[in-house]
Amino acid sequence: MKYTILNRGDRLSQELTETFHRLAAEGGMTMDQHVPDIVISIGGDGTMLHAFHSHIHLLDKVSFVGVHTGHLGFYADWKATEIAELVKRMTTPDVEMKIVKYPIAEIEIVTKKAGKEVFYALNEFTIRGDDGKTLVAKINVNLEDFEMFRGDGICISTPSGSTAYNKSLQGALLHPSIEALQIAEIASINNRVYRTLGSSMILPKHHICDIFPREDQKLQLSVDHMNIQRDDILSIRSQVSELKVSFARYRPFPFWNRVRAAFIGNEPME
Ligand code: NAP
Ligand code: MN
Repeated sequence: MKYTILNRGDRLSQELTETFHRLAAEGGMTMDQHVPDIVISIGGDGTMLHAFHSHIHLLDKVSFVGVHTGHLGFYADWKATEIAELVKRMTTPDVEMKIVKYPIAEIEIVTKKAGKEVFYALNEFTIRGDDGKTLVAKINVNLEDFEMFRGDGICISTPSGSTAYNKSLQGALLHPSIEALQIAEIASINNRVYRTLGSSMILPKHHICDIFPREDQKLQLSVDHMNIQRDDILSIRSQVSELKVSFARYRPFPFWNRVRAAFIGNEPME
């Protein structure tokens, strides 16, 4: 098995990386930065976002594993103290490994200067006004007019990203077995001219959301942890991608258990 590691860069994550390499070599794993089978992210969910984007060209070949060196993460569910256990499970032939696949978002941006660009998001795509200005945009769903939006912005999240920015926007948490995208508003203005739905909405696979910002606005776009500023956006199309991201699971940790552990706490109830 060929693996590579991406870590957050702090001392603990660096140390764990060294430990992992040592244990992995003892267990017969080989390091391969170029064509790994497994990508190990050591740090937090933010580190997994980096790991995902640096292996986007290998998405149909690699599986990701996350170790957290801070708080429990949604993509990083192995504890720092469990690194030996993780390597043991990875190198023991009879340990059952499951690959779980999560949907990701495909975002196609059309600009005046650069033409068409495609991005993939593991968590979400957001569009906001820049310079403290609101975003003004027409929103179409499945090629038909839906609403005229004015407000801070729009967040389009994947199911596994629903626990991130989307949750702060009162969006629902979506189980990653559901192939869908969630559109959540960021502080919409509602009056007689601009009227928006107000609640977040969930689009299934093959449905399309097009955003047409009013011309020449300065806009802030984000794809996961990356930010892009543009003033020449013509349209943005979002949909569930045909590609999926794979996570290697060496033990079960169901999504709703992670939700409870992260947001409620694991204390037993009365
Ligand atoms: P960051 O500002 O360091 O991260 C913000 C927080 O989001 C961190 O605690 C991060 O966990 C957590 N997070 C990331 N993905 C998550 C997920 N799928 N479920 C639950 N929590 C998650 O920036 P970053 O580490 O580069 O992460 C970028 C993400 O930050 C974006 O994709 C967006 O979802 C989120 N964000 C949230 C808000 C908000 O809620 N108001 C605003 C901007 C961005 P770790 O500490 O483990 O990395
Ligand atoms: Mn972070």
